[in-house]
Amino acid sequence: MALLQKVKGFRDIFGEDINYWHMAEEKIQSFFRSYGFKEFRLPVLEKTSVYKRGIGETTDIVEKEMFTFTDSDEMVSLRPEGTASLMRAYIENNLHNPPGIKKYYYLGNMFRRERPQKGRFRQFSQIGVEVLESDAPLLDAEIIGLLYNVAFELGLSDYVNMEINSIGCPTCRPKYKDDLVKYFSSHKDDLCDDCKRRLETNPLRILDCKVEKCKSIAKDAPVILSYLCDDCNTHFESVKEYLSMMNIPFNINPKMVRGLDYYVKTAFELVTDRLGAASAVGAGGRYDGLVKSLGGKDTPGIGFAIGLDRIVELLKDINPMEDKGTDVFIMAFDNESLAHCLKFVKELRAQGFIVEYDYSLASMKSQFKKADKTNASYAVVLGSNELSENKAAVKDLVTGEQELVQLSEVINYIKNKLI
Ligand code: ATP
Ligand code: MG
Repeated sequence: MALLQKVKGFRDIFGEDINYWHMAEEKIQSFFRSYGFKEFRLPVLEKTSVYKRGIGETTDIVEKEMFTFTDSDEMVSLRPEGTASLMRAYIENNLHNPPGIKKYYYLGNMFRRERPQKGRFRQFSQIGVEVLESDAPLLDAEIIGLLYNVAFELGLSDYVNMEINSIGCPTCRPKYKDDLVKYFSSHKDDLCDDCKRRLETNPLRILDCKVEKCKSIAKDAPVILSYLCDDCNTHFESVKEYLSMMNIPFNINPKMVRGLDYYVKTAFELVTDRLGAASAVGAGGRYDGLVKSLGGKDTPGIGFAIGLDRIVELLKDINPMEDKGTDVFIMAFDNESLAHCLKFVKELRAQGFIVEYDYSLASMKSQFKKADKTNASYAVVLGSNELSENKAAVKDLVTGEQELVQLSEVINYIKNKLI
């Protein structure tokens, strides 16, 4: 029979890697909560129209990266990102009522049919935030600062840079777009086929192209910052001022546009040079027109998403973690000692320790081997000699030291050693 294999671009995640995932997911979530964010759990499947209207018909994601299929006459897609789906949920659940600032975070797998490579998979995990109902530039600074501080908390701040830009709004962007089209049209023959098409459909996306030829042409293209209207300009100046007040380091990258259509004004990316071509660890921006374009009230919003697969890759490189083994391995050999063993197991687990025992009640020698395999710190041996004195032998498996301890004192003894 042919060996069953996973689908291209999808991964099994297990073993030591899981420790990094837990660490990142737990730290980032508790950090988000300290900023007042509440978790939002979104469906993995949405009607394709949510993404077509939310992300934009001419974006890479919608044009070629979605896993889409028909479900009883309806086109549905696996989610390629969280924002459009969260806006759909915000509108559908009437969350603008009562009015006031809303702060949500989400965590989950996303799906994009991209060419798999280092840091780029077809199923990947994002953790992200969205804030609705405020257009204050101080909020933009807070959100950019939050993304930077996540990297700081994880010990990654020396390996990342925060790049920011303003990509204008429907008032000032059209003139910029016109000039961009003029510029790229004069280099049309040298652009890749995708960018030749983008010239007609979505010229800003050419600036985001990863093909070398296109990148070098884009170097001399006009920049959006010289086209900003007064409103966008004042907003951007305030964001920069607040970031400096917050001591958040940033660079201005006037060529950075984001791959999704819904952004206005502030756009930002946290980048690293340690992951090859997959350089963005997290990215986001302001999307004031999005809720309205999906059929809701005119609502300002801003958010970002962090790529957890890339965070884990960086952590493994930079911050190696030791695998945490079992705390205590308890050894029973017959039903009498098993009764004591099960009591200890239950009590120690309830106190948060990692506790294991041997289901086959094997010989002492074999159980010491098993304890070794689980990397246990302590063994509690409930042999008949010890039990006849109402005692257990507690062995430190690192130093090899052993002590006889009263059964009633075993839990306290272990607690004192391990805390
Ligand atoms: P890229 O320029 O690398 O394609 P993107 O602009 O498409 O990124 P976003 O849609 O902004 O990415 O998603 C936010 C974050 O999610 C990215 O910064 C990245 O860390 C992560 N991410 C995006 N696509 C993938 C993928 N295919 N595999 C792993 N992580 C990804
Ligand atoms: Mg992409």
